[in-house]
Amino acid sequence: MRDVSLWREPVPPDGTMGEPRARGRFGEYGGRYAPESLVEACREVAEAFRESWADPGFRGALARLLAVHAGRPTPLTPAGRLSEALGVRLYLKREDLTHTGSHKINNVLGQALLAARMGRRRLIAETGAGQHGVATATAAALLGLEATVFMGERDIERQALNVFRMRMLGAEVVPVTTSSRTLKDATSEAMRHWVGATGDSHYCIGSVVGPDPYPWMVRELQRVIGDEARGQCAAELRTGVPDYVVACVGGGSNAAGTFAGFADTPARLVGVEAEGGAGASRGRLGVLHGCRSLFLQDDDGQITQPHSIAAGLDYPGVGPEHAHLRDLGRARYVTVTDDEAVGAAVRLARTEGIVPALESAHALAWVIRAAGDGDLPAGSTVLMTLSGRGDKDVSTLKELL
Ligand SMILES: *Cc1c(COP(=O)(O)O)cnc(C)c1O
Repeated sequence: MRDVSLWREPVPPDGTMGEPRARGRFGEYGGRYAPESLVEACREVAEAFRESWADPGFRGALARLLAVHAGRPTPLTPAGRLSEALGVRLYLKREDLTHTGSHKINNVLGQALLAARMGRRRLIAETGAGQHGVATATAAALLGLEATVFMGERDIERQALNVFRMRMLGAEVVPVTTSSRTLKDATSEAMRHWVGATGDSHYCIGSVVGPDPYPWMVRELQRVIGDEARGQCAAELRTGVPDYVVACVGGGSNAAGTFAGFADTPARLVGVEAEGGAGASRGRLGVLHGCRSLFLQDDDGQITQPHSIAAGLDYPGVGPEHAHLRDLGRARYVTVTDDEAVGAAVRLARTEGIVPALESAHALAWVIRAAGDGDLPAGSTVLMTLSGRGDKDVSTLKELL
């Protein structure tokens, strides 16, 4: 018998990772803490999404875009040489192979389609490293919408390539010069801008954060990862379902989408955070960007600046549903260091011929550590979402290796 003491058994009853309770609540988290005009705008988005998600026409149009534009379904790749070395059977869900190189495209194609259906002509987005901004600019170009992307001035300096890609795609990139001039400030600025533009613009949030319906809507738009992987595991694994399902967690969208496909199975869910951005592991209850969740704060309740080598994990909190899954004991959240992530990236490159995004390398770093210290029992089957490719990180890696 394997040691399962870290998870409370049995798996919680049906409804986990279903629709949130009234007013977008996941347990004590979530909600819609926004100025009045945005509460109304969020209500409209919620209504339009609920209706669209129940409409086979909308679902079909999105499925087609995901197939012909974004390259879905993505493969499930057995990591053969690495599995042998680790003594577990590791399978990679390859979101790095989607168009634009990460899972973010799944969400933005859905929201862009929704925006067009709502008669909006422009997408507003925030971006940190630029991945969500590039995905938004891509979806906007594809559907003939405008895109305005808010980005911290410091991130603009650090991510010149993605800034150029957004402009090449026709998006306007607006530098944010307040406070730390990074993602948290870009998000605040994008929300402020939306207040004056709700009539013609849709705010396209990049993760399972923000006011209701975003945490729920973005998880539903990302569940294509978990649903595909569930089917692929059923075909590939004798047991049908992996013992462990692992994904990295920034705001938590690739993890939420992956977990959603396995919430009703006995699979153990593991979210891997950056040591310096560990909202689920070390955050405290608070409200930020319209949502009640766990955030990194000082003793005065001020949000503190996260630090991670992976820009996509540099968010000071975590989505409300993850906070709830943690409380339920349905998912477990762990942290890895920058050094462990870099080591894991190099190891994947040299054993499997895949250069992962540094975000995804965090998930792998936990698998490697846990296989070594027995936290992952020998012979376990492990599904890990490889959220993106590493091209964007080459300049960071070049300085270290
Ligand atoms: C943005 C990003 C993440 C983190 O976002 P989540 O919402 O936590 O998924 C992880 N990996 C990659 C490649 C990203 O671009």
